[in-house]
Amino acid sequence: MIKIDILTLFPKMFQGPFAESIVKRAMGKGLITVNLHDLRQWTADKHQTVDDRPFGGGVGMVLMVEPIYKALKELTRHSKTSQQKVILLTPQGKVFNQKIAGNLSKQKHLILICGHYEGVDERIREFLVDEEISIGDYVLTGGELPAMVMTDAITRLLPGVLKKLAATRNESFANPLPVTRHAQTGQLLEYPQYTRPADFQGWKVPAVLLSGDHAKVAAWQAQQALKRTRRRRPDLL
Ligand code: SAM
Repeated sequence: MIKIDILTLFPKMFQGPFAESIVKRAMGKGLITVNLHDLRQWTADKHQTVDDRPFGGGVGMVLMVEPIYKALKELTRHSKTSQQKVILLTPQGKVFNQKIAGNLSKQKHLILICGHYEGVDERIREFLVDEEISIGDYVLTGGELPAMVMTDAITRLLPGVLKKLAATRNESFANPLPVTRHAQTGQLLEYPQYTRPADFQGWKVPAVLLSGDHAKVAAWQAQQALKRTRRRRPDLL
């Protein structure tokens, strides 16, 4: 069971993605709790101000430290575990990948901070967060989509969420089929998959997959995964 608290200015953005498919099912089974917190509830003024102009000038607005400080104090005070990890979503963070998703799926309590506007007061980085994560080298409007991406990737790795957790074992970026020296040191993309019909307008499924010989099929899949990774993502090997 993992708890994810998400601090955001736009909690409604999460309604669609978290109300469907695997994340919804995992919540229904009690394997994950996701709490959305509107940052404005930790403001003191009538206008519920969360941002201000940057010192020294510059374009745009910066999220203030105080509402986030207060939010974290409250969320960690009520936490049953002292092992929460506070993560700031930022394009300047460590780039998220399957390994990070796997490590985070073993945590009990994550707090994700979604920035907005020009970003956040630097003191949030310096004094309040444990990790900074980016979902890729591009700039989004806010941390909400990255928080959804991370929550989805983490959720499907939780035991009991997918019907067969084994399904994630041969997936792209998982630690792969132990058949070659490379496979033990790198990550592979998944092998090609086919389903019925075996012949569609003359486009045939590879015969080995119809052979019923499990050893041959496994060897073919391993070889295809390696070949595909070499061609598309040699950096993984
Ligand atoms: N001015 C900031 C910079 O240059 O680093 C970018 C701010 S961005 C417009 C606003 C917010 O969106 C960020 O504070 C962050 O929370 C989120 N964000 C944008 N791109 C992201 C990415 N690639 N990964 C994670 N979060 C991102």
